[in-house]
Amino acid sequence: MTDYDQRKRECYCCGKVSEHWELMSSNSFGSRDLDQRPSGMFRSTIGSWLQECPYCGYVAPSIDKGDAKARCFVDTPEFRAASLDPLAEPASRRFLVRAAQDAYYGDRRSAFHNTLCAAWVADDRGREADAVALRLKAAGHLGGGRITSIDTRLLLLDVLRRAASWQAAEALAAELTAEELESPFSDIVAFHRGKIEARDSGRYKIKEAYAFKPEPNRSEADPELVKALARHLKIIKRPDSA
Ligand SMILES: [Zn+2]
Repeated sequence: MTDYDQRKRECYCCGKVSEHWELMSSNSFGSRDLDQRPSGMFRSTIGSWLQECPYCGYVAPSIDKGDAKARCFVDTPEFRAASLDPLAEPASRRFLVRAAQDAYYGDRRSAFHNTLCAAWVADDRGREADAVALRLKAAGHLGGGRITSIDTRLLLLDVLRRAASWQAAEALAAELTAEELESPFSDIVAFHRGKIEARDSGRYKIKEAYAFKPEPNRSEADPELVKALARHLKIIKRPDSA
Protein backbone atom coordinates (compact mmCIF):
# COMPACT_ATOMS: atom_id res chain seq x y z
CA MET A 1 0.00 0.00 0.00
CA THR A 2 1.34 3.41 -0.95
CA ASP A 3 0.16 6.46 0.99
CA TYR A 4 0.75 10.14 0.43
CA ASP A 5 -0.07 13.14 2.58
CA GLN A 6 -0.02 16.83 1.71
CA ARG A 7 2.35 18.84 3.90
CA LYS A 8 3.43 22.46 4.09
CA ARG A 9 7.18 23.05 3.96
CA GLU A 10 9.11 26.25 4.50
CA CYS A 11 11.86 26.47 1.91
CA TYR A 12 15.35 26.32 3.40
CA CYS A 13 16.68 28.73 0.76
CA CYS A 14 13.98 31.42 0.34
CA GLY A 15 11.79 30.90 3.43
CA LYS A 16 8.51 30.76 1.51
CA VAL A 17 5.93 28.10 2.32
CA SER A 18 4.52 25.66 -0.24
CA GLU A 19 2.53 22.43 -0.15
CA HIS A 20 3.90 19.08 -1.27
CA TRP A 21 2.52 15.57 -1.54
CA GLU A 22 4.82 13.43 0.56
CA LEU A 23 5.21 9.68 0.60
CA MET A 24 4.08 8.25 3.92
CA SER A 25 4.43 4.55 3.22
CA SER A 26 5.09 2.10 0.41
CA ASN A 27 6.79 -1.24 -0.18
CA SER A 28 9.70 -2.40 -2.29
CA PHE A 29 9.24 -6.17 -2.21
CA GLY A 30 11.19 -8.08 -4.83
CA SER A 31 14.57 -7.91 -6.49
CA ARG A 32 15.97 -4.57 -7.55
CA ASP A 33 17.04 -3.95 -11.12
CA LEU A 34 20.74 -4.23 -11.89
CA ASP A 35 20.97 -0.43 -11.68
CA GLN A 36 19.47 -0.61 -8.18
CA ARG A 37 16.07 0.75 -9.16
CA PRO A 38 13.72 -0.55 -6.47
CA SER A 39 10.83 -2.89 -7.21
CA GLY A 40 7.35 -3.12 -5.72
CA MET A 41 5.07 -0.15 -5.25
CA PHE A 42 7.96 2.09 -4.21
CA ARG A 43 9.19 1.95 -7.80
CA SER A 44 6.30 4.09 -8.98
CA THR A 45 6.73 6.73 -6.26
CA ILE A 46 9.75 8.23 -8.02
CA GLY A 47 7.90 11.51 -8.64
CA SER A 48 7.87 12.18 -4.90
CA TRP A 49 11.52 11.45 -4.10
CA LEU A 50 12.51 15.09 -4.50
CA GLN A 51 10.64 18.33 -3.75
CA GLU A 52 11.04 21.62 -5.59
CA CYS A 53 10.30 25.05 -4.14
CA PRO A 54 7.87 26.76 -6.55
CA TYR A 55 9.33 30.18 -5.63
CA CYS A 56 13.13 29.82 -5.84
CA GLY A 57 13.48 26.38 -7.46
CA TYR A 58 15.50 24.79 -4.65
CA VAL A 59 15.37 20.99 -4.93
CA ALA A 60 15.88 18.53 -2.06
CA PRO A 61 14.30 15.40 -0.58
CA SER A 62 12.67 17.86 1.88
CA ILE A 63 12.98 21.49 0.88
CA ASP A 64 12.91 22.65 4.50
CA LYS A 65 16.33 21.05 4.95
CA GLY A 66 19.70 21.98 3.50
CA ASP A 67 23.07 23.47 4.22
CA ALA A 68 25.12 26.54 3.35
CA LYS A 69 26.09 24.95 0.04
CA ALA A 70 22.44 24.67 -0.99
CA ARG A 71 21.88 28.40 -0.41
CA CYS A 72 24.95 29.26 -2.47
CA PHE A 73 24.05 26.89 -5.29
CA VAL A 74 20.69 28.54 -6.07
CA ASP A 75 22.64 31.68 -7.07
CA THR A 76 24.81 29.92 -9.65
CA PRO A 77 24.46 29.80 -13.45
CA GLU A 78 24.62 26.00 -13.16
CA PHE A 79 21.45 26.04 -11.05
CA ARG A 80 19.61 28.33 -13.45
CA ALA A 81 20.62 26.24 -16.47
CA ALA A 82 19.32 23.02 -14.86
CA SER A 83 16.14 24.66 -13.51
CA LEU A 84 15.20 26.21 -16.82
CA ASP A 85 15.85 23.12 -18.96
CA PRO A 86 12.95 23.44 -21.42
CA LEU A 87 13.01 19.76 -22.35
CA ALA A 88 12.88 18.04 -19.00
CA GLU A 89 9.54 17.23 -17.42
CA PRO A 90 9.14 18.17 -13.74
CA ALA A 91 10.12 14.87 -12.09
CA SER A 92 13.11 14.46 -14.39
CA ARG A 93 14.14 18.09 -13.97
CA ARG A 94 14.15 17.85 -10.19
CA PHE A 95 16.71 15.03 -10.39
CA LEU A 96 18.79 16.99 -12.89
CA VAL A 97 18.79 20.09 -10.69
CA ARG A 98 19.87 17.97 -7.77
CA ALA A 99 22.56 16.32 -9.92
CA ALA A 100 23.80 19.75 -10.97
CA GLN A 101 24.15 20.67 -7.29
CA ASP A 102 26.03 17.42 -6.61
CA ALA A 103 28.34 18.02 -9.56
CA TYR A 104 28.92 21.65 -8.54
CA TYR A 105 30.23 20.43 -5.20
CA GLY A 106 32.26 17.56 -6.63
CA ASP A 107 30.04 14.69 -5.46
CA ARG A 108 30.37 12.59 -8.60
CA ARG A 109 28.55 9.55 -7.31
CA SER A 110 25.43 11.44 -6.20
CA ALA A 111 25.39 13.37 -9.48
CA PHE A 112 25.57 10.02 -11.29
CA HIS A 113 22.78 8.55 -9.19
CA ASN A 114 20.41 11.51 -9.51
CA THR A 115 20.92 11.65 -13.27
CA LEU A 116 20.20 7.92 -13.40
CA CYS A 117 16.93 8.61 -11.54
CA ALA A 118 16.05 11.12 -14.28
CA ALA A 119 16.64 8.30 -16.79
CA TRP A 120 14.23 6.08 -14.84
CA VAL A 121 11.56 8.76 -15.22
CA ALA A 122 12.22 8.76 -18.97
CA ASP A 123 11.98 4.93 -18.97
CA ASP A 124 8.54 5.15 -17.36
CA ARG A 125 7.35 7.64 -19.96
CA GLY A 126 8.60 5.45 -22.83
CA ARG A 127 11.02 8.19 -23.91
CA GLU A 128 13.78 5.85 -25.00
CA ALA A 129 16.06 8.38 -26.67
CA ASP A 130 15.93 10.63 -23.59
CA ALA A 131 16.62 7.67 -21.33
CA VAL A 132 19.73 6.79 -23.35
CA ALA A 133 20.93 10.41 -23.34
CA LEU A 134 20.39 10.64 -19.57
CA ARG A 135 22.28 7.40 -18.93
CA LEU A 136 25.20 8.71 -20.96
CA LYS A 137 25.00 11.96 -19.02
CA ALA A 138 24.98 9.99 -15.75
CA ALA A 139 28.06 8.04 -16.88
CA GLY A 140 29.72 11.34 -17.76
CA HIS A 141 29.52 12.42 -14.11
CA LEU A 142 31.84 9.54 -13.22
CA GLY A 143 34.53 10.71 -15.65
CA GLY A 144 37.55 12.67 -14.55
CA GLY A 145 39.17 10.17 -12.26
CA ARG A 146 39.36 6.51 -11.46
CA ILE A 147 36.41 4.99 -9.61
CA THR A 148 37.51 2.52 -6.99
CA SER A 149 34.13 1.37 -5.68
CA ILE A 150 33.08 -1.99 -7.15
CA ASP A 151 29.45 -1.13 -6.45
CA THR A 152 29.62 2.05 -8.49
CA ARG A 153 31.49 0.37 -11.34
CA LEU A 154 28.85 -2.39 -11.51
CA LEU A 155 26.15 0.27 -11.70
CA LEU A 156 28.11 2.07 -14.39
CA LEU A 157 28.38 -1.20 -16.33
CA ASP A 158 24.60 -1.51 -16.38
CA VAL A 159 24.18 2.15 -17.33
CA LEU A 160 26.59 1.79 -20.27
CA ARG A 161 24.91 -1.44 -21.43
CA ARG A 162 21.41 0.05 -21.19
CA ALA A 163 22.63 3.06 -23.18
CA ALA A 164 24.02 0.65 -25.84
CA SER A 165 27.45 2.17 -25.32
CA TRP A 166 28.94 -1.17 -26.31
CA GLN A 167 32.60 -0.28 -26.58
CA ALA A 168 32.73 1.39 -23.18
CA ALA A 169 30.64 -1.42 -21.64
CA GLU A 170 32.94 -4.08 -23.10
CA ALA A 171 36.02 -2.29 -21.81
CA LEU A 172 34.62 -1.96 -18.29
CA ALA A 173 33.37 -5.57 -18.27
CA ALA A 174 36.82 -6.79 -19.37
CA GLU A 175 38.47 -4.69 -16.67
CA LEU A 176 36.16 -6.09 -13.98
CA THR A 177 36.63 -9.66 -15.24
CA ALA A 178 40.41 -9.29 -15.03
CA GLU A 179 40.07 -8.36 -11.37
CA GLU A 180 38.72 -11.84 -10.59
CA LEU A 181 35.99 -10.60 -8.29
CA GLU A 182 34.26 -12.99 -5.95
CA SER A 183 30.69 -14.18 -6.27
CA PRO A 184 28.13 -12.65 -6.49
CA PHE A 185 29.95 -9.75 -8.20
CA SER A 186 31.60 -12.10 -10.69
CA ASP A 187 28.18 -13.53 -11.59
CA ILE A 188 26.86 -10.07 -12.32
CA VAL A 189 29.83 -9.20 -14.51
CA ALA A 190 29.46 -12.52 -16.39
CA PHE A 191 25.75 -11.83 -16.89
CA HIS A 192 26.51 -8.40 -18.33
CA ARG A 193 29.18 -9.81 -20.65
CA GLY A 194 26.65 -12.20 -22.13
CA LYS A 195 24.14 -9.41 -22.67
CA ILE A 196 26.78 -7.08 -24.09
CA GLU A 197 27.90 -9.77 -26.56
CA ALA A 198 24.26 -10.20 -27.60
CA ARG A 199 23.88 -6.40 -27.87
CA ASP A 200 21.01 -6.63 -25.39
CA SER A 201 20.28 -3.29 -23.71
CA GLY A 202 17.25 -4.55 -21.81
CA ARG A 203 16.32 -4.16 -18.17
CA TYR A 204 17.21 -7.05 -15.85
CA LYS A 205 16.94 -7.70 -12.16
CA ILE A 206 19.74 -8.60 -9.76
CA LYS A 207 18.20 -12.00 -9.14
CA GLU A 208 18.24 -12.75 -12.87
CA ALA A 209 21.97 -12.01 -12.97
CA TYR A 210 22.51 -14.06 -9.88
CA ALA A 211 20.69 -17.00 -11.44
CA PHE A 212 22.71 -16.69 -14.61
CA LYS A 213 25.45 -19.11 -13.58
CA PRO A 214 24.05 -21.35 -10.89
CA GLU A 215 26.44 -23.52 -8.98
CA PRO A 216 25.46 -27.00 -7.84
CA ASN A 217 25.14 -26.09 -4.19
CA ARG A 218 23.41 -22.79 -4.67
CA SER A 219 19.84 -22.25 -5.68
CA GLU A 220 18.63 -19.25 -7.60
CA ALA A 221 16.04 -18.47 -5.01
CA ASP A 222 18.30 -17.76 -2.05
CA PRO A 223 16.57 -14.62 -0.84
CA GLU A 224 19.11 -13.92 1.89
CA LEU A 225 21.98 -13.74 -0.57
CA VAL A 226 19.98 -11.62 -2.99
CA LYS A 227 19.10 -9.27 -0.12
CA ALA A 228 22.71 -9.14 1.03
CA LEU A 229 23.80 -8.14 -2.45
CA ALA A 230 21.12 -5.48 -2.69
CA ARG A 231 22.30 -4.01 0.61
CA HIS A 232 25.88 -4.12 -0.56
CA LEU A 233 25.14 -2.31 -3.77
CA LYS A 234 22.86 0.27 -2.24
CA ILE A 235 24.10 3.72 -3.11
CA ILE A 236 21.10 5.87 -2.50
CA LYS A 237 22.39 8.49 -0.13
CA ARG A 238 20.51 11.68 0.33
CA PRO A 239 22.50 14.01 2.56
CA ASP A 240 19.45 16.10 3.36
CA SER A 241 17.17 13.24 4.23
CA ALA A 242 19.15 12.13 7.26
ZN1 LIG B 1 12.47 28.52 -2.10
